Amino acid sequence: MSVLYRRVAFIGIGLIGSSMSRAMRRDGTCETIVACARRAETLDTVRKLELADVVTADYVEAVKDADLVVIATPVGTNGDIAKIIGPHLKPGATVTDVGSVKQAVVNAVQPHIPEGVHFIPGHPLAGTEHSGPESGFPELFEGRWTILTPLPGANAAAVEKLSTLWRTMGAKLATMDPVHHDQVLAITSHLPHLIAYTIVGTASDLADDLRQEVIQYSASGFRDFTRIAASDPVMWRDIFMNNRDAVLEVLQRFTEDLTQMQRLVRKGDGQALQDVFTRGRAIRRGIVDAKQADPEEAKRHG
Ligand code: NAP
Repeated sequence: MSVLYRRVAFIGIGLIGSSMSRAMRRDGTCETIVACARRAETLDTVRKLELADVVTADYVEAVKDADLVVIATPVGTNGDIAKIIGPHLKPGATVTDVGSVKQAVVNAVQPHIPEGVHFIPGHPLAGTEHSGPESGFPELFEGRWTILTPLPGANAAAVEKLSTLWRTMGAKLATMDPVHHDQVLAITSHLPHLIAYTIVGTASDLADDLRQEVIQYSASGFRDFTRIAASDPVMWRDIFMNNRDAVLEVLQRFTEDLTQMQRLVRKGDGQALQDVFTRGRAIRRGIVDAKQADPEEAKRHG
């Protein structure tokens, strides 16, 4: 593969940033990788794992002369970071992000992007519950969707180049309006996480003896929820702080549906319950057929 971006700077290099840097090294799509994080511990890990050629805690130094800047920090930090790096971006450079929320990131970042620099927001729909540079791996994006949300009037060549980068990392590409992205993700990702955090919270509030049994006998079901609820608390705090409208909308619908399920259980309406569960099974089948289920998990559960 030929070089797409000579110098690439990662602002934040945890699970997503380090998976990208590993994949870009593997693919030869860049010449020099610069990694920037806050904590000395993170920077040491990046050095030890040789994830970057240049390692720094200085945002300005990191983006100097970079052809591509990837902001890969919790979404609540993106505006402040853009404000610091904005004046130091190279003309013609591309700035992208990987945040799980898009419209709030556009609002926070775009005002700080100078004329002549291309800001192309992005979101890889790939991840695990693990965090930090040690948890990344280059295959993370393979067969997964990455959604780009270019702004009106975005430079087509810059969008195409970034799309090529993602495709080279194995991702499938889609473009979307940022508000639409946030609505889709509210139902497919944000609400399920909220439910997982709530269920695990409910179980941990139970009396001590019962809680012990919940842990001891956790069958899949509860166990699957605990995996989701092990995701990074700061990242998820920022997601809910920055996608409030869309989350509240789907939460309202979900609450109504849950009340309906409660009614069916109370009435003992077996047929109606079975109908709902049958629909659930068909949706699962669709996800497996679209190859969007975790392969190991799909083998176990179908
Ligand atoms: P992560 O593993 O926790 O890494 C976060 C990185 O951001 C670390 O390098 C951290 O540096 C840095 N950082 C944290 N707070 C910061 C702050 N206030 N200022 C500057 N840097 C800060 O996170 P991740 O899972 O890679 O997630 C990064 C982004 O990707 C998030 O926006 C998230 O929404 C998005 N995303 C995540 C997933 C997923 O499943 N995890 C999937 C798709 C998209 P230090 O270690 O030095 O603190």
